[in-house]
Amino acid sequence: MAWRLTKYELDNENLLINESLLSLGNGYLGVRGNFEEGYEEGDKSIRGTYINAFHDETEITYGEKLYGFPEKQQKVLNIIDAQSVRIYLDGERFSLFEGELLSFERNLHMDKGYAERIVHWISPKGKEVKIHFRRLVSFTTKELIALDIKVESITPVEQVKIVSTVNGDVTNFVDKEDPRVASGHAKRLHVTEVRQEDRIGIVKDTTYVTELEVACVSSSAVAAENHDYDSRLTDYSIEETYLCTGHEAVHFTKYAIYTETLRHGENVIDEGMILLRQVQGQNFDDLLEEQKAYLDAFWEISDIVIEGDQRVQEGIRFNLYQLLQSVGKDPASNIAAKGLSGEGYEGHYFWDTEIYIFPVFLMTNPGIAKNLLLHRYSILEHARERAREMGHEKGALFPWRTIMGTESSAFFPAGTAQYHISADIAYSYIQYYLATKDEDFMKRYMAEVLFETARLWEDTGHLQNGKFRIDDVTGPDEYTCIINNNYYTNVMAKHNLSWAAKIYYLLDETDSDHLKQLASRLELTETEVGNWQIAADSMYLPYDESLQINAQDDSFLQKARWDLKNTPPEKFPLLLNYHPLTLYRYQVLKQADTVLAHFLLEDEQDFETIKNSYDYYEAITTHDSSLSTCVYSIMASKLGYSEKAYSYFNETARLDLDNTHKNTKDGLHMANMGGTWLGIVYGFAGLRLKEDGLSLAPILPAEWNSLEFRLRYQGRVLKFRITRDDVAYSVLEGEDLNITHNGAPLFLESGKETVIR
Ligand code: BGC
Repeated sequence: MAWRLTKYELDNENLLINESLLSLGNGYLGVRGNFEEGYEEGDKSIRGTYINAFHDETEITYGEKLYGFPEKQQKVLNIIDAQSVRIYLDGERFSLFEGELLSFERNLHMDKGYAERIVHWISPKGKEVKIHFRRLVSFTTKELIALDIKVESITPVEQVKIVSTVNGDVTNFVDKEDPRVASGHAKRLHVTEVRQEDRIGIVKDTTYVTELEVACVSSSAVAAENHDYDSRLTDYSIEETYLCTGHEAVHFTKYAIYTETLRHGENVIDEGMILLRQVQGQNFDDLLEEQKAYLDAFWEISDIVIEGDQRVQEGIRFNLYQLLQSVGKDPASNIAAKGLSGEGYEGHYFWDTEIYIFPVFLMTNPGIAKNLLLHRYSILEHARERAREMGHEKGALFPWRTIMGTESSAFFPAGTAQYHISADIAYSYIQYYLATKDEDFMKRYMAEVLFETARLWEDTGHLQNGKFRIDDVTGPDEYTCIINNNYYTNVMAKHNLSWAAKIYYLLDETDSDHLKQLASRLELTETEVGNWQIAADSMYLPYDESLQINAQDDSFLQKARWDLKNTPPEKFPLLLNYHPLTLYRYQVLKQADTVLAHFLLEDEQDFETIKNSYDYYEAITTHDSSLSTCVYSIMASKLGYSEKAYSYFNETARLDLDNTHKNTKDGLHMANMGGTWLGIVYGFAGLRLKEDGLSLAPILPAEWNSLEFRLRYQGRVLKFRITRDDVAYSVLEGEDLNITHNGAPLFLESGKETVIR
């Protein structure tokens, strides 16, 4: 496989999964891998095209609505469908579910940036054809989806008819049984314009509430001399028909440009027209060349090469590729939990970004990482407003799930109560600073975010008997909600508070004018900063003497243990089979919590506590969340549990490819995809990024012959190659570097390879 994901399945369940796996995107625009001609009558498909952050607002209906519950929710919309192309051979409609299929395969080309479907088919009346479908979502013109279809007749076909549609009458997918998929409000767009200008099709839709507009400006063509063209407009669609006679081969192309209000302003159609004219001069192969050039640059820095394990190699490349396809590359957007590959979690951004995905881009494509931070900065005002709504006089509380910055979570115990997201965001700003030393960014954005989040902690917690406590929050584990002193939350808040104070004093020394301005804008006093330091220094971190572990929270260890061994397999994930209160009463974890805190802030505890905690929590963790196994893999690597590290990693790397969570059809699990990279770089290679620089502690899994990857760090490009016998470090670009290798200092000379046996 190496660079290609190939699929042959045609049954309905697999088609849905493959729609997600073969989805295409560029961070702005995404399209699922649907068949142009559709499926069989009655078969389910999630036919979808999405624009990152393009949304509508819906009312949240509560049985009992209490103060501060969000009234509205944002939802990413399935937009105008330009995928549809039907093909008729002498009047017989092409369908993979009729006639005889001589061969069929689909490929996702991760080095070339396109997907294809190759079909060799005989119609029920005996017409034999080969059809080659190719499609791309451009990385260089972000608004463009291009389709390219070649129909080659093997037996004589007098007339090939191609019917291409652009349909504005679209709805979202709903599943009332699954809380991870939307349950209502399927239709949120109405068609506001349909017309044609010189064979350019224009369809515009407007959202019901936010009144955002999306336009699809498209053109199609066939390369066949003898053909008739006709078009038909309805209230909601444009249908173009090409009748081609006397050809052995018909070549059809369609370019669709999607523009929308958030990025293109009020004149979405005019903007679309300009963009379409720009790309019309390029044929499909020209576009492919651009894709290739873009991806060459991406893989040059981002590829990870694993020798000796083809399945994992496939997993990591696929995951990295899909992350690239989904991550927002402008400050108007972030990366949704399912990226642009499906509608699960309604296109919302979670802490998944900061803790699981951001590090990948930070260390390979810091420009993309920076945008993710800028997006959070752009919603800081909403976070301040939310903090006031939640009763805090000062500070900023970031929403648990959102698109535009307001809280979109209706279930506060596992939503708003996850205050840790504010510390997670602060953590990623700090990591960015450590990786880039971007002082300007620190001054302009990071300082303010750190100050405002630190204020939140100071206001949420309180000092009692010399300890700073944070009550009634929820940590990452969603099977334990609204508890006091969640270890993860407290330790992350501590980090947030102490860094906020540190940055304050640093700015005081290096740019006191800037600090004065900022402090005056935020009405920040030095007394407050002093209080942050006190809160950080006296932060209460629950520890159980008898077990010698960090307690997940104040009450966790007093609860009964859930009997995981005797829970029937069909009862997983537990969240779909038990009331939340039942789960809250037991020691049972949906996902890594304390173990994750031990990864992110390992210097807060000694090795023994970290190890004991791992052993304890592992036995009661279900990994019902896809954000869990990667963390257990990373920490198993640190603790020397090499078999476990590998087995958790294996589950992580192929979670979507093997549909192990059984919901890949709703979209790909982006955080887990980032987790695969973390499992390699932070797990097996043992990378850590701290104030004193980079450190590594590489251990190659026994199944592998070698591991090779590159990172960017403070203006350098570094190369790492780990084999069974040695570790080779090179500084490919930039200055010499001092790192730590297995606890000992190591000097790396620029342009040279340093090999440690
Ligand atoms: C997890 C959360 C995560 C969300 C979106 C939930 O199942 O418990 O931690 O943020 O999914 O991926």
